[in-house]
Amino acid sequence: MEMNKKQRVLFSADDISKKVKELGQIISADYEGKELVVVSLLRGSFIFASDLVREINVLTQIEFMTTASYGHGEETSGQVNIVTDIKDDITGKDVLVVDDIMDTGLTMEKILEHLKQKNPNSIKSCVMLDKPERRKTHITPDYVGFTIPDVFIVGYGLNYGDYYRNIPYIFTFDE
Ligand code: 5GP
Ligand code: MG
Repeated sequence: MEMNKKQRVLFSADDISKKVKELGQIISADYEGKELVVVSLLRGSFIFASDLVREINVLTQIEFMTTASYGHGEETSGQVNIVTDIKDDITGKDVLVVDDIMDTGLTMEKILEHLKQKNPNSIKSCVMLDKPERRKTHITPDYVGFTIPDVFIVGYGLNYGDYYRNIPYIFTFDE
């Protein structure tokens, strides 16, 4: 791995923690009195989802899905495949799909279409990072941590190759 590339920190662990608390409060208020099913998309959202659910104070069930997109590296090629589906019945439930980042939007679009067929009462999306410049669909996340320009993000669950998901802040490698 290119360990000697220079890191540029975009959001510190402290920035992230404040933002996640804020999102948790908004989501808790929006779902007050309801039962929430959080669907976390693996692997990228595992850190964000685990922080976020601990800031949500309504009754919450947590499910995971794994998607894969054909193409080079981690970039979505347009073909999004569901590798692992949720096992639970979400009929009549209020579902919140959580991902690390919305880029082209193709992953979220595919997941929302898929889960809607299971007849939930409602379905919304939440991402830590949004790169609207890169969008290839009309989708907009319902809850967003930070809106960012078109840069490749690493850390806080987001990978560079097989590494850096465990880094507690969000950064980019300066060229
Ligand atoms: P989309 O389907 O919206 O194009 O892409 C979503 C997925 O692509 C994310 O869940 C993430 O796995 C990956 N991705 C998109 N942008 C980035 C990025 O800047 N850094 C990393 N590490 N992964 C990204
Ligand atoms: Mg992903």
